[in-house]
Amino acid sequence: MPFEAVIGLEIHAQLLTESKIFCGCRTRFGDPPNTNVCPVCLGLPGALPVLNRRVVDLAMGAALALDCTIQGISIFARKNYFYPDLPKGYQISQYEQPLATDGRVAYEVDGHVREVGIIRLHVEEDAGKSLHEGFADSDRATYIDFNRSGVPLIEIVTRPDLRSAAEAADFFSRLRAVLVAIGVNDGNMEEGSLRCDANVSVRPAGSSGLGTKTEVKNLNSFRFLQKALEYEIERQTALLEAGGAVQQETRLWDPAAARTVTMRTKEEAHDYRYFPEPDLPPLQVDQARIAAIRDALPELPETRARRLVAQYGLPMYDAGVLTQSAALADYFEAVAAASANPKAASNWVMGEVLRKLRESDTTIERVPILPPSLAGLIRLIDGGTLSVSAAKEVFEKMYGSGREAEEIVRAENLGQISDASALRDLVRGVLEQNPGPVSQVRAGKAGPLGFLVGQVMKATGGKANPRLVNELIREALETP
Ligand code: ADP
Ligand code: MG
Ligand code: ZN
Repeated sequence: MPFEAVIGLEIHAQLLTESKIFCGCRTRFGDPPNTNVCPVCLGLPGALPVLNRRVVDLAMGAALALDCTIQGISIFARKNYFYPDLPKGYQISQYEQPLATDGRVAYEVDGHVREVGIIRLHVEEDAGKSLHEGFADSDRATYIDFNRSGVPLIEIVTRPDLRSAAEAADFFSRLRAVLVAIGVNDGNMEEGSLRCDANVSVRPAGSSGLGTKTEVKNLNSFRFLQKALEYEIERQTALLEAGGAVQQETRLWDPAAARTVTMRTKEEAHDYRYFPEPDLPPLQVDQARIAAIRDALPELPETRARRLVAQYGLPMYDAGVLTQSAALADYFEAVAAASANPKAASNWVMGEVLRKLRESDTTIERVPILPPSLAGLIRLIDGGTLSVSAAKEVFEKMYGSGREAEEIVRAENLGQISDASALRDLVRGVLEQNPGPVSQVRAGKAGPLGFLVGQVMKATGGKANPRLVNELIREALETP
């Protein structure tokens, strides 16, 4: 019996604020341990939390971008548990009354629209960080850095609408793009600003009930998410096929061993003894504030992708790649406008530009070739001065030097010879030297024509425009 996977994600995203959620401490990543702390985020007795207004605005922006309904009143609650990096003994989160509910992310994949439901989006604080490695006595001691304690997060919980590991990873990357595009999250998964817990079960294909799920915690890359899910789906399927049962549990992904391992087996909401946070009033937001946030939202990646398709006639695939970041899409649009050749602009950005960025481990914001310069290169191809392969060489030189395409072509004499009069004599010479192939072409054979074109190309050091050479040879053979 074939099985299918059912996946729902819980995503934690750090909100892009300068200060923490309930105190004025900085949120900057990488500061020396325990330098951004105060009585509130250290959980000292008597310290009172005060909600950061910007946290609410950013969380509402995310909620609206995910098409959620924002609740006029939401409530902070204490989630009680002991952990060394949780100094208060509880985390302030939202539980029964979250900030927003019932949203969706819809996007086009291979011509179909896929929709992933959002159950809820709530606001909470992050815990500190336990440092198990990197100290001389790390074999005996764990250190704790409270700089993260009280950093603002949103948690986004999806419906179990995803059906494969690849689908889940793709969704996560699109969600990331949305959060980055609206300026709510920096998308930096290595620094832990964005991470996800993956819930997964399997069931007989085509059935509608839900199987017993496991939850894989704290996945901080698309690849780990996909690998962990692939592993879990295989593990659960094998269990069921052997007549066994899946145990509901929380697991961890071990990247080195490429497998998931049990972390804890039973966890119920009531274990946390949630109750409303007595030191914070209910959070109230009015319609005017919601409307103002909605009006300030920029164009979302999926909307932009559809616009690129409509406006520039690009394939949806291109549009999807180009809208991975707003800066990349801006770059593309600038090249498209300046070159008047959107498809070529898309090919260059998706191909050479992204390749160079990957190779040099940099971002589009820092690319040394500005859009007008790349457009200049494209115009040289469209005007017949450069072949595509010569243009790639010029591109390399532009990237390394910051010089303009035209300047490089002129200085290094790289242009194609597209001037018919400059080539006619050469063509005549080649034809005279190769009477055999010439008579074969006259007799209707195609092969020797390629040979003759090759000879002319060789004589010009590869610089002749091949299309033009072809035309000139035909012209010469037609005139007796
Ligand atoms: P829990 O109470 O264990 O946290 P929730 O109902 O809150 O479970 O759901 C948490 C996440 O797990 C959501 O993303 C949801 O879509 C997903 N989920 C719930 N049940 C299943 C299931 N049987 N299989 C896969 N995912 C599930
Ligand atoms: Mg859960
Ligand atoms: Zn603080």
